Amino acid sequence: MEGKRNKRKQGPGFMRFYRPNFLLRSFVPDSIWTTPESGVLVTIDDGPSGRNTEAILRALREVNCTAVFFCTGKNADDNQNMVQEIKAEGHEIANHGWNHSKHIFMNRSELEKSIITTSKLLSGITGEAVTFYRPPYGLPGIYQNRILKKLKMKNVMWSLLSYDFEGNDVLSREIISEELRSDDIVVFHDNEKSSKVFPEILYYLAEVAEKKKYKFADARCLK
Ligand SMILES: [Zn+2]
Repeated sequence: MEGKRNKRKQGPGFMRFYRPNFLLRSFVPDSIWTTPESGVLVTIDDGPSGRNTEAILRALREVNCTAVFFCTGKNADDNQNMVQEIKAEGHEIANHGWNHSKHIFMNRSELEKSIITTSKLLSGITGEAVTFYRPPYGLPGIYQNRILKKLKMKNVMWSLLSYDFEGNDVLSREIISEELRSDDIVVFHDNEKSSKVFPEILYYLAEVAEKKKYKFADARCLK
């Protein structure tokens, strides 16, 4: 089943994996991969960019969806008012490390510092403890499980990648129309590469979800 679901398609020069494979799943077993009760959960990584964030917030309002924003500490520091705005609109603020460097190559103290510094900054802005973390590039460091446990945080992975970062509208539409399931955690990005496709593709996601009679999950559903 898993093999069938994790369908691979030929792209220009490489294979794309829309769904996490068994290896990744077994490496971080204490993680959230799908929504706890059915509902499509929109997650947005790498922001707030400050350039595309307003458009993203508008699109989320228009399709009546709340999302989890996995912010980098660096971007949150540069765009503190945006973090406040995201929070004020009912979305969840989560931790994506300080500067999007690869956590998989960090030693324990570097990784801990990246996570703690980011959480401190985010909770300083929102006044709320940060509970959720997602590693940059989806690549968990080997110390991650222990550190998150100590900090009482949860690792949130995904079940469907939109490939918005390829900036190919046809590809992202195809993934959404063919793959979307009722309990998917879908990944989008608030960065320059993805801005060609996202948030426009969010309207398409809402259409597909409606056709399939799926609802959006509330951003707070992970708690
Ligand atoms: Zn990222």
